[in-house]
Amino acid sequence: MTNRIYNFSAGPAIMPTPVLERAQRELLSVDGCGMSVMEISHRSKRFEAILDRAENGIRDLLSVPDNYRILFLQGGATMQFSMVPINFLREGTTADYVITGAWGEKALVEARKAGTVNVVYSSANSGYRSVPDPDELSFTRDAAYIHYTSNETIEGVEFKYELDGGGIPVVCDASSNILSKRFEIDRYALIYAGAQKNIGPSGVTVVMIRDDMLERCPGGLHSLLDYRKFAENSSMPNTPNTWGIYLIGLVCEWIKSNGGVGEFERRNIEKAAILYNAIDSSDGFYSGHADRAVRSLMNVTFRLPNENLDIEFCEQAAAIGLDGLRGHRSLGGIRASIYNAFPREGVEALVQFMRDFAERKG
Ligand code: PMP
Repeated sequence: MTNRIYNFSAGPAIMPTPVLERAQRELLSVDGCGMSVMEISHRSKRFEAILDRAENGIRDLLSVPDNYRILFLQGGATMQFSMVPINFLREGTTADYVITGAWGEKALVEARKAGTVNVVYSSANSGYRSVPDPDELSFTRDAAYIHYTSNETIEGVEFKYELDGGGIPVVCDASSNILSKRFEIDRYALIYAGAQKNIGPSGVTVVMIRDDMLERCPGGLHSLLDYRKFAENSSMPNTPNTWGIYLIGLVCEWIKSNGGVGEFERRNIEKAAILYNAIDSSDGFYSGHADRAVRSLMNVTFRLPNENLDIEFCEQAAAIGLDGLRGHRSLGGIRASIYNAFPREGVEALVQFMRDFAERKG
């Protein structure tokens, strides 16, 4: 096998090696049918089984209740920034947005195009380092929904609790921490995630939506913007991303065979602690971006004493097989994304490199 490096990319991100190996084995002939999954009809019984495997895999891993539909859409999580308000933000109503980072901000921009929006919290002025305490939030009475981002991928800021809307439908962008820890799905009216971090490849978005929300979708929407059309047609009002859905099924099986979401949560807490300890014990050479209490388990963001050192750090790390560490272009610094598929040994290798680098440059 080709040597694999430690890939810290934020997404598309590292995939589990056993999943890639299985996909490789099955590439020319899925289920022994003599065709690739990319070559079979999405209307075939064979693909139906592949779709069921992906759906049941997610339902099982996250204990998704029966009154939720699991849908596979395209257009990335970004498409959800538009679909959510297009479906639920009626004239005369307001949607409440909790903004804890750049992705929430982008969701807000799209929602404003659809209707009236109220920002109930924003940490923009302090550089997106925090999340609100539950008692800091007060919502618009009769809001159409509340939107928040459970993990802000760019800043590495993560909610450590699940937001309670007190009866108002809660919509959550969980793109970068879905399946990394347990979620109580029944707290959400809708929860969505682009697949390319913890679930599979890019080009497919998972949407879990409560049945009663489907009834709120207005008539006359363009079909591909209408959640009901996806629910009524088993995610296939048109040709879906068959390859992506296939890989999601394999990733779910891999998570399950490794002990399930609870086990990954345990591993993720450990992996993140190793990295944050390295930051905190560096005598200030490395400084973390997020407030300590809300540090992300998935995206560990920090910086060095100056930008030149950030660049040198990334170059030297890449040279020894630690790749994808450059922070997002909007924030700079370093970002180590350590999703489910990222091995603990890679985290340990990075920490070793951080110590060496600080010793040489500190
Ligand atoms: N939300 C979050 C939290 C993300 O991390 C990302 C992508 N990194 C997006 C939304 C946008 O996803 P996509 O590129 O799939 O549209």
